[in-house]
Amino acid sequence: MSISLNEEVTPIEPDAALILDHLPGLVWTTDETGTISYCNSRFGEYAGIDFGLSHPSHWARVLHPDDAVFAVQYGQNARRTKRRRVINARLRRKDGEFRWFELAGSPLADDGRICWLATERRESANDRTQEDIEGGFRRFLNSLSLSALLISPGLELEFANQAALRWYGFLPESSAQEASADREPRKLDEILLPLKAYMEGEQTPVFSYQAQHADGTLRWLEAQVVPVIEKSGELTNYCVLQNDVQDSRDAAYLLGKEMEMLDMVARGTPSASVLQKLCNVVEDLIPDLFCCFLELSLDRKFFRMGAAPRLPSEFREIFDQKSVASDKNACSFAALTKKAVEIQNLLESDYRHTSMGQFMLANRLNYCHAIPILSPYGNTAGIFAILRHQYTELKPRERQIVDRAAHIAGISIDRTRHEEALVKRETQFKRSQAQLVAAQRISSTGSFTSDVQRDENIWSEEFYRIFDLDPEVEPSIDAVRERIHPEDLELFDVEMQRGLAGEGSDFVFRIIRTDASVRFIRGLAKVTHYIGDHPVFMGTVQDITETKRAEDAIRRSEEALLKAREELAYVSRAMTISALTTSIAHEVSQPLSGILANANACVRLLALDPPDIASAADTARRTIRDTMRATEVVKRLRAMFKRQSPTMEDIDLNEIAREVIALSARDMRERSIVLESRLASGLPSVRGDRIQLQQVILNLVLNGIEAMAEIEGWPRRLLVLTSREEDMLTLSIVDAGVGIAADSAERLFEPFFTTKRNGMGIGLSVSRSIIENHGGHMWATPNDGPGTTVAFSIPRSPPLAQSV
Ligand code: ADP
Repeated sequence: MSISLNEEVTPIEPDAALILDHLPGLVWTTDETGTISYCNSRFGEYAGIDFGLSHPSHWARVLHPDDAVFAVQYGQNARRTKRRRVINARLRRKDGEFRWFELAGSPLADDGRICWLATERRESANDRTQEDIEGGFRRFLNSLSLSALLISPGLELEFANQAALRWYGFLPESSAQEASADREPRKLDEILLPLKAYMEGEQTPVFSYQAQHADGTLRWLEAQVVPVIEKSGELTNYCVLQNDVQDSRDAAYLLGKEMEMLDMVARGTPSASVLQKLCNVVEDLIPDLFCCFLELSLDRKFFRMGAAPRLPSEFREIFDQKSVASDKNACSFAALTKKAVEIQNLLESDYRHTSMGQFMLANRLNYCHAIPILSPYGNTAGIFAILRHQYTELKPRERQIVDRAAHIAGISIDRTRHEEALVKRETQFKRSQAQLVAAQRISSTGSFTSDVQRDENIWSEEFYRIFDLDPEVEPSIDAVRERIHPEDLELFDVEMQRGLAGEGSDFVFRIIRTDASVRFIRGLAKVTHYIGDHPVFMGTVQDITETKRAEDAIRRSEEALLKAREELAYVSRAMTISALTTSIAHEVSQPLSGILANANACVRLLALDPPDIASAADTARRTIRDTMRATEVVKRLRAMFKRQSPTMEDIDLNEIAREVIALSARDMRERSIVLESRLASGLPSVRGDRIQLQQVILNLVLNGIEAMAEIEGWPRRLLVLTSREEDMLTLSIVDAGVGIAADSAERLFEPFFTTKRNGMGIGLSVSRSIIENHGGHMWATPNDGPGTTVAFSIPRSPPLAQSV
């Protein structure tokens, strides 16, 4: 057995060493760090340590780990307290077995040295039980997940269970057996103050206090003190059971803040204030963090600064009112892609070239996490960015805080966006409302919505004005009814009945305003939807009095024009026919003289003896024939002269052309005009007035005849042509007369244009208006050879015929 000493330690006298070796206990000394500076041979033997060969060793290595802390703590406190102390602890025998010893520690000097004397506890049955009880109790405490400390009435720490050692950081998981100089049992001092207060009756057995956790942070613990009393009634220890309540405190704090902020959102606090507060909370709870919120404009094209209370103001300039796409930084990228962007080391990232990157570098911020804030509809409403000087992984609790903050920001921003959209829509609505009112005013149109069955109505401002009703009047059908002209009341009621049956209506009625003026109103209504089975109408009322008056005036002048035109047509017809007088006289006088001659012959033949009956009958028949012929001519003339309003009928164009030709054939013969008619076969009928159309044809024929009156040198030839092109039938009169200049073709149709000495110049103008009234048109063209072609086209009978 050798005794070895550390070089730094003063050697012990050999005699003294011998004496110490013979003591029935283990003796050793430790320095202020707990390193063994001397030990007797019994200690070396028991622990199996050859201090001569080994390195200086910390005495805690021979302690049972459960007993280490308070023993070490005593060592550290001894210098200060200079108190002798007796501790029960287990020491490891060289074969690894722990045995209970009573350790008496005595501070040697001010330098922190302690002399330890350990005597093994006697193996009496009583002691054994006592040790078992103590060991069992400590084992029980070790099995708890709560931190448990045993503290003596003298406020010395006797024991700390595994959970406490872990919490305080005395027990790194991997080297639970390793006694280390890093241990700072002094950390446990924080409990002593409240415990002392408890002992003095100034504190309840349950209290909260803050202590330093293994990670260096201060955390809240909830402690409960239980006095440990032995069978003998002696109070041996205080057992302090403690629970780390920091997380639940944080959660409660966060929940409180969350409620506070949701309340702000609900009260309509502007998102900027809510976001500012959120930043403060997050920055409070997570150390070394810079928060910022960016909002997106309604069209998501621009950033708007939300809040960034801890960042310099240049940050605002980078984003506020700036296009999302302009600077391709982390926030822009997150906004455009809806994906979070994390930059752990800005210096190694391309993002450092962006203006946000430059800002971060200038402020020594090397870490950024841009998280898109999504609206409930999945659109990006903003960005939550957290910046740090360097990358530190967020703890689960911190991640939860960040997620909650992003969530609340989402609600707040979403609300602001909705309000903004609402205001925008309201403004638009007000503007269009104002426009509608103006438009109704300008067009004298009022609008209404009406549930006729329930007599529930909404009237526009202009509606009130048109009906000359006080804007205070409650809308009702009766209020309108009171204004209706008595003669139109029946009509109005019929239309209301139609309304009740769910039909739309469009009708004109009169109202009498308070100044007794009568106004014409056009009412238009359509069923737009149903409430239950009630049809709801929307409609308009338009004051059409002015329009109606103008229309009446137009109608009256049109009637006057029509009358004038008819007069003119009559005159023109009379003149046309007077031009045929000779011919007509001849037509009539010829059968008359025939009748006379035949009647005379008949008388003579009957006067013969015997009378020549057969010849007389023959002459009588010729008389009848001539009479009929004359009657026919007179009838035709009378028809032509008759002044009657137009009657529309289906007419064979060829047939009326033939009748006109027949009427003027003799005239032509006398003027040596060769008539040629090329009437197309199978023509459909035209719809029109027979007399009017005959007048037109006769007019053209006579003009042709007159145009050829004086020509010499080429044959006088008049061609009457009919043809069809699709639904239009054309009649052309081609003469070989004096012709017209190409540029005066239109002048012929001007009223009172004439080149004839006795001409009136109304024939063609009247003819054209007749044709146009039949839905057709009329024109004149110079022929390639001599003469003119004057023609008209009119549509065939229905389906395409037009009424005059
Ligand atoms: P009026 O026969 O009384 O003159 P119209 O209106 O029938 O009235 O004709 C107007 C003018 O058009 C005629 O005076 C004549 O100069 C010219 N005109 C009409 N038909 C022909 C024709 N077939 N050839 C040449 N000129 C014509």
